[in-house]
Amino acid sequence: MDQYRVFGNPIKQSRSPIIHQSFAEQTQQQLNYQSEYVELDQFEQTVKDFAKNGGKGANITVPFKEQALRICDQLTERARLAGAVNTLCFVDGKILGDNTDGQGLVQDLLNNKVQLKTSRILLLGAGGAAKGVILPLLAQLPESIVIANRTIAKAENLIKQFNNKKLSALGFAELGDEKFDLIINATSASLSGNVPPIAKELAVNTYCYDMVYGNELTPFLQWAKDNGATKVMDGLGMLVGQAAESFRIWRDVHPEVISVLHQLR
Ligand code: NDP
Repeated sequence: MDQYRVFGNPIKQSRSPIIHQSFAEQTQQQLNYQSEYVELDQFEQTVKDFAKNGGKGANITVPFKEQALRICDQLTERARLAGAVNTLCFVDGKILGDNTDGQGLVQDLLNNKVQLKTSRILLLGAGGAAKGVILPLLAQLPESIVIANRTIAKAENLIKQFNNKKLSALGFAELGDEKFDLIINATSASLSGNVPPIAKELAVNTYCYDMVYGNELTPFLQWAKDNGATKVMDGLGMLVGQAAESFRIWRDVHPEVISVLHQLR
């Protein structure tokens, strides 16, 4: 049976095996997908051993996504621009790297009936997750994407790399009364119970998305709801969406995500 893995550290919390098992059942694919804990200094060796032993593909999660990029023989443009790889394919002794996180986000936004074309988007954060979603968001032809980050220099560096006139960078304090159609929180602030310090008026009549997810509303989504957001959405759909895109790359079939998302919730 074809073998797949998700490699990470920590890994116990990963929902990827459940998601891929559901996709496999739904599409009647015969495969085995498991999570594997990798010691911090063992990543490259572990991946190469897995490939040598017949592994077909792997997902990569924290903290190995940048390292994964460096061991690839070939990269997609979205992985190169994201500077990180979350999906590996092992083909004819070569390692191919892709990044499906951004596609997962875009697909989830579209499933939630969020219009991206001609929209004004505020992207909070300038870490790996923010970087990975910029190209797929630009592909949806928004009017503009403002990237706001606690450390402004990081947001400025990001827009230099992409060199696209729809992008601009600001600090949180510089966000004036410009209205946005969609705010995407790509910071990890919710994990520590915090909300990026932006004016509450920004949430009014706006779609608000947090890449973090949990059993309850994240602090950012609670803030958005309290301040009149049109709709609040967490990152579980992005997680299932990126998995679906990896599955498509490996198996050449599109799994259906909504039922799997309901099952997880
Ligand atoms: P990074 O560590 O690369 O970046 C963290 C970002 O959060 C930086 O922009 C940082 O700002 C900002 N930040 C951290 N704490 C605060 C705070 N208290 N207030 C304001 N800004 C803050 O992380 P990633 O980019 O890889 O991941 C970001 C989040 O996205 C994580 O929580 C992760 O779980 C989630 N994620 C979800 C996915 C999904 O499928 N749902 C997929 C990928 C990521 P600064 O630069 O100033 O330090």
